[in-house]
Amino acid sequence: MSDPGFGIYVHWPFCASKCPYCDFNSYVSDNVEHGLWAKALVAELEHNFALRPGGPVSSIFFGGGTPSLMQPRTVGDVIETVHRLWGLTNDCEITLEANPTSVEAEKFKGFAAAGVGRISMGIQALNDPDLKALGRLHTVEEALAALGVAREIFPRVSFDLIYARSGQTVEAWRKELAQALDLAADHLSMYQLTLEPGTPFYELHRRGVLILPDEDAQADMYEITQEMTRAAGLFPYEVSNHARPGAESRHNLTYWQLGDYVGVGPGAHGRLTINGKRVATETEHDPAQWLADVQVNGHSIVQQTELSPMSDGEEYLLMGLRLETGISLARFKALSGTAFDRSRARSLMDDGMVAVDGDTLRVTDKGRPLLNAIIAALVV
Ligand code: SF4
Repeated sequence: MSDPGFGIYVHWPFCASKCPYCDFNSYVSDNVEHGLWAKALVAELEHNFALRPGGPVSSIFFGGGTPSLMQPRTVGDVIETVHRLWGLTNDCEITLEANPTSVEAEKFKGFAAAGVGRISMGIQALNDPDLKALGRLHTVEEALAALGVAREIFPRVSFDLIYARSGQTVEAWRKELAQALDLAADHLSMYQLTLEPGTPFYELHRRGVLILPDEDAQADMYEITQEMTRAAGLFPYEVSNHARPGAESRHNLTYWQLGDYVGVGPGAHGRLTINGKRVATETEHDPAQWLADVQVNGHSIVQQTELSPMSDGEEYLLMGLRLETGISLARFKALSGTAFDRSRARSLMDDGMVAVDGDTLRVTDKGRPLLNAIIAALVV
C-alpha cells in the first residue's frame, strides 16, 4: 500500500445560505470577523503541532461550509503556518472547496497566490430549476463561467454533482452526465442525493411532498455513472469519486487509507498518532463557542480519545473498503492486532460481492452499490 500521507483539514463553517439537503456543520452569518478567525486557526494549528510534531504535510484541505467565502489572506496565513510548523512535501496538494458564484470566482487569483493548487467546486446540477430546488444561489451560466476561470488559474479542478434528484429521470441524468464529462478536467465527485435527518428535505420527504426516483431508477443512475465515467477515462477510485489516473484527491486518500490528519476549525475531526497510539480529536461545533475557546485556551478540542486497536481495524475496514483498491489484510492485522476473520466474508465472496486476492480484500463492482450493507456485515 502506498504511503497514506499526512493531511491538514481546515473547517470554514459559514455559508451564504443553507441548502435544504445539507447536514454539514454550516451556518449563515454576515458578521464574521476574519482577522480573529485567521488568528484562531493559526493558534489551533500550533496546538496540534505540539501534540503531533512530525512532518511534512502532504495535503491541506479547506472544507466547509463554504471556504471560498474566506479571505485569501486567511487562507495564506493557514498555509504559511502549516509550512512553518510541519513543512510541506514538494508536491503538497492544497485544495479549497468553492461555490461557483461570480463573487467567489473573483477571489480565485487570490487563493492561487496564497498557495491553493486545486479547487473543488460545488456545481451540483446543470439545469437552473434543479439548482433552485436544491437551494443553490448560482445559475448554470454562472457555474460554467466560474469553472472556466478556475480552469485558467488552478492546475487541478474538480466539481461535484448531485444525482437522483426529485423529478430526475435516468435519461435526464445520462444527458447531464455527458455534459459534465465534456466539462470535466481531471476529477469529478458525484453523490446520490441522501436525505439526512433534521434537514428540510428529510421533512418534506417524510410528508410526501418531496419524491425521489425509486430504487431501480437510482440503481440505474449509479450504473450509468460508473459506465460513462470509465469510458471517459475518469475512473471510480472511490464510491463517489472519479479521476484520471494520478489525479485522485490525495487528501481523501489519506482519510480512506487511515493516515494521520489534523482537524482545525469548528466541528473538525482529526486522527493523530501520539506516542505510537492513534488518537481521535474533535473540536467544538458551534462557531462562536469555538472561537471563544481558542481565544482562551489556544484550541477548542472537546474530545481527545485514544483509539483501541479493534476500533482502528474497524475504521480501516469502514474507510478502506470505499476504495476500489480495497484494503491490505496485513495492515488490518497490524492495526487491529488480529487477523481478518475470513469466515465473515465467506457468503459475500460466494455471492461475488467481495473478493480476496492475495493480501487484498476489496468490494467488487457487483457489490459496490451495496457498499454500506457489505461494510456493516464485515464490521459486526
Ligand atoms: S453550500 Fe455546502 S455546506 Fe453550505 S449549506 Fe450548501 S451544501 Fe451545506
